[in-house]
Formats: sequence, C-alpha cells, structure tokens
Amino acid sequence: MTSQAFLTSRLQGFGTTIFAEMSALAIATDSINLGQGFPDTDGPALIADAAIDAIRAGHNQYPPLLGIPELRAAIAAHQQHWYDLTYDLETEVLVTAGATEAIAAALIALCEPGDEVVMFEPYYDSYTAGTAIAGATRRVVTLRTPDYSFDPDELRRSITSRTKAVLLNSPHNPTGKVFDRAELELIANLCVEHDLIAITDEVYEHLTYDGAEHIPLATLLGMRDRTVTISSAGKTFSYTGWKIGWVCAAPDLLAAVRTAKQFLTYVNGAPFQHAVAVGLATLPDAYYRDFAADLQARRDLLVGGLRAAGYEVLVPRGTYFVTVDIRPLGETDGLAFCRSLPGRTGVVAVPNVVFYDDKDAGRSLVRFTFCKRREVLEEAVTRLQTLNLRQ
Ligand code: PMP
Ligand code: GLN
Repeated sequence: MTSQAFLTSRLQGFGTTIFAEMSALAIATDSINLGQGFPDTDGPALIADAAIDAIRAGHNQYPPLLGIPELRAAIAAHQQHWYDLTYDLETEVLVTAGATEAIAAALIALCEPGDEVVMFEPYYDSYTAGTAIAGATRRVVTLRTPDYSFDPDELRRSITSRTKAVLLNSPHNPTGKVFDRAELELIANLCVEHDLIAITDEVYEHLTYDGAEHIPLATLLGMRDRTVTISSAGKTFSYTGWKIGWVCAAPDLLAAVRTAKQFLTYVNGAPFQHAVAVGLATLPDAYYRDFAADLQARRDLLVGGLRAAGYEVLVPRGTYFVTVDIRPLGETDGLAFCRSLPGRTGVVAVPNVVFYDDKDAGRSLVRFTFCKRREVLEEAVTRLQTLNLRQ
C-alpha cells in the first residue's frame, strides 16, 4: 500500500479502486477476470466503423461543450422513444466523459459543503468519492439480502434538513436489482415532499432480464424537472473504454451540471460522439432486445455454474453482475476470499463489502460478471467447481 500522506482529508480512505486492484491481480496471476465489468467482445461493427469514419473525416478537435448536436438529438430521441420523455437538445441534454463524469459533475454542481446525499448501499464506488469531493456527506440506506428490498422507514429517516439529493442507481450495480414502480413511487414522493433533487444512474437501462422493466425516475409524477438523468453508451453498446455518457435534465439543473463539467474535462471523445450518435440513431429496437436476451443466457450459464460450485446465488434481474454468498463454502470474508481466489483457481471476482458502510451486511458477498464470452464463463465455472471439490 502506498503512502497517502499527501492526499487531502476529503479523499482519505479512498485508496485504489477495487476494480483497479482486482484487474491488476488478474493480469499478475493470468486469471480469468470476472471482476471488473467490461465485455470481452466488441459491440456493433457499424458503431466501430462510424468511429473510424469520423476520425478519417477529421472530427478530431474539441467538440462543442454540450456535445455534438447529432448526438444530443439522438439522446433526446432515445429518451422520447423508450420512455416518452421529451428533452430539448439545446438546453436539456449534455454529453459527458462517461457516466462517471456526469455523476461527479452533478454532485459538485448541486451540493454545498455539508449537504447530505441519500444513496442505497451497496453503492457504486464513485458515488462516495464524488460526494466527498463535493464536500457533501452520504446518508446510506441498506438494500437487504436475499431480495435487496429496503425499509421505507429507514429511507424516511435518512432524510434530514441537510438533504440535498437522492442518488439512485437502477438497474443496480452490484446487486442486479431493478427498482420496481412501488419502490420508485416511494422515492419520488419523498423527493417531492422534501423538495429534493434526484440524480439517477441508468447506465444499465437496457440490460434487464426475465421481463423486468426499467422505469426512469424522471417519468414519475413530479419528478421530470427535479431529476438529473444520467446514462452512458458504454454498457448499451459494449464500448466501455470510449467513455461517452450523458445527462438529461431541466434547463436550470442542466446548466448547473454543465458549469461543473466544463472544468473537469471540458469535452471528450469527438469521433466517439459521432459513432454513438450513429448507434443510437440507426440500431433497431431488436438490437436492444437481442443484446439483453444474449446477456440473460450468459447470466443463466454463470448462475447455474456458481450454484453447482456450491455458492448461494442471488439471481440478478439486470446489469452485468451476479452476487453470491460464500458462506455455504465455509468462507466468511469476501475480501480475503477475492484476494486469494486468483491464486487458488485462476478466477478473479470483486468483494461487495467495499460497496458498503455496514460491513456486516456485505462481508460474505462476492460479485462475478457475466459480460464475457460463453467459453470464458464455462472455463471459469469449471475452475470454481474444482476449488469446491478440493475442499
Ligand atoms: N455507474 C455504474 C453503476 C457503473 O457500473 C459504471 C461502470 N461502468 C458507471 C456508472 C460508469 O460508467 P462510465 O464508464 O460511462 O463512466
Ligand atoms: N462499472 C465497472 C464495474 O462495476 C467498473 C468501472 C471501473 O473500473 N470504474 O465493474
């Protein structure tokens, strides 16, 4: 562990992200990496071709601060088509350097030091860091296994006179939970009652299984003009390294986020913006359905293999990830388990405990990704089953 002597107090404790640690371990041990969520195949060729065409056509200088108009128009059309949400592409749509920048810019732009942000745990790691960078404080509500439901009273109690925003991720990483309408209505009603802003991370919006429906919080009564809706092309099109994300929000909220965003990256990814615009504008609905069906089949492969290896599996209804409880294997400490697993089996996973404040709630939970080729998942499952036989 390197010294953190120079690191500001706001960021003490954040160290190295678990994704960087586990992906480095995968390389060092030549393991199958089911830790960090990134596909091992490219997305649609027409999108890659559009990026290459854009580079050759000279789209290589700074794009406009808001993002190129073709992409903003395609994002607005996407929100209209899938959710019946209307956004004005001049004042209500902003392209960002992935969802990560959008989340950070929203927190920095909207929170005063000392403000509180309500979020569910397990939380995506950048939420806590982004909140800390903004000088705000997190208030955490726990999603409880086995169904990842939450206690409405715990949510109500988490709201104080300092609460500025609720930060919601659905479909949810790492649990794979897709918040249902009743849960969203409860959250929406509290936002309206306490005059809170909602920041929603919807990067897995098209990755839902078993008929689960993704419902953007902005579609609920009273929410359209108080919600900063965030998504990204990374997951939808399997180009996670391109980092093209976006924000849709009412003009006043968008202007605030834009003000912070311009001093983080200003702009990014000019040719990739063109390519994502082509993807959004030309891929038929069948692309999204087929992609989700394909991922669902790979989820089933991994779920079956993990069950056969002796884990208790919490079956996800969305995202790239499946969580297991390792206690049936006689293990209790997910962090120690994930640090030793590559050496024992040649498979890398991520310990969910790092996404919890309540360490007891997440200690024995471990996340595997299934956004990999079938043969890779089959080999990983074989290795994990061998570990079990050796015990
Ligand atoms: N939110 C969640 C829940 C994620 O899992 C990820 C990981 N991709 C991100 C945000 C970051 O998205 P991006 O790569 O577009 O910054
Ligand atoms: N979202 C990816 C995951 O949860 C990781 C992205 C990152 O490395 N920050 O695995």
